[in-house]
Amino acid sequence: MTALPVLPLDPPDAEPRRGIAPRHLADLDPAARRAALVELGEPAYRADQLSTHYFGRLVRDPAAMTDLPAAARDRVATALLPRLLTPVRELACDGGDTRKTLWRLHDGALVESVLMGYPDRATVCVSSQAGCGMGCPFCATGQAGLTRNLSTAEIVDQVVWFASVAAAGALPGSPRRLSHVVFMGMGEPLANYARVVEAVRRLTDPAPGGLGLSQRHVTVSTVGLVPAIDNLAGEGLPVTLALSLHAPDDELRDELVPVNTRWKVAEALDAAHRYYETTGRRVSIEYALIRDVNDHYWRADLLGRLLSARGRGWVHVNPIPLNPTPGSRWTASDPAVQDDFVDRLRRHGVPTTVRDTRGREIDGACGQLAAVSAP
Ligand code: SF4
Repeated sequence: MTALPVLPLDPPDAEPRRGIAPRHLADLDPAARRAALVELGEPAYRADQLSTHYFGRLVRDPAAMTDLPAAARDRVATALLPRLLTPVRELACDGGDTRKTLWRLHDGALVESVLMGYPDRATVCVSSQAGCGMGCPFCATGQAGLTRNLSTAEIVDQVVWFASVAAAGALPGSPRRLSHVVFMGMGEPLANYARVVEAVRRLTDPAPGGLGLSQRHVTVSTVGLVPAIDNLAGEGLPVTLALSLHAPDDELRDELVPVNTRWKVAEALDAAHRYYETTGRRVSIEYALIRDVNDHYWRADLLGRLLSARGRGWVHVNPIPLNPTPGSRWTASDPAVQDDFVDRLRRHGVPTTVRDTRGREIDGACGQLAAVSAP
């Protein structure tokens, strides 16, 4: 692991206002941006200038927007480009191909994001909430509970920041253009539904309205909030849905993913299948393989039957060797058990690929960096 310089912590705000992030350009759609500029006494076209800087050139610092008159820069900096994210720790591993940043938000809340470079793409994993209220017992974030939802701009700004890091050539052997975003950091994205959907629009709207990423290169994960899955299917955003299942039977899933007591395995899978039918996007099933907890051969067979019974070609399973939380009793499955689990799913005709575990050395599982850095 290569530890990047640890940045000093600024003193926290004297009286942080929990829950309300300052308004930012990335919270607004293009029409609202123009209206905001007019409110500031600036011509409406400044909205396009600002958007071109932020989304097109990945410039987040108003001082660097030198084509704007100095007085206008100060006005818009205060009103529309407040600093949302302050890096607290930055770490790199995998030869520099994985870079993780822990951020402090305006009110002292901590979130983290990870940039991952591959030969054919650069992907950022973003947080959608500070903490998480879903309470999954094997997850560091779940142990700390929910602090608050992130604003649209707090989500988008994670991506813009890493897009500029990638553009500067920080990922050896990867494209410089950030191409993929996965909502798999801290939080349950669909519990912060409206802001996450807005963030997806900002990320995928063509520049200068947004970052211009392909909707097909955005993945939104969920533990299975069924009504929100159905709503997402109706948004006209063909993003990939990733359902974090982790168990095929209600008895175990009630324990591993407590929201299962509200929406059962069959309801979550039916909603995922409806999502596929509506959007045409193949659904990913995420399954953290936990030794002697959910990695039994009969659970692989049960999962294979449940998925193949709903049809072919609609789903793909990603078993993930669990990245253990320090001090936790949960640990990754034996490699031979993992191989057998994968083989069984494939024998049921279910495409299955073990997902890599980037960032293992830097507490890469969601919430772990925040967990070890919390005061
Ligand atoms: S696994 Fe995901 S949904 Fe569950 S507590 Fe952790 S962050 Fe929340």
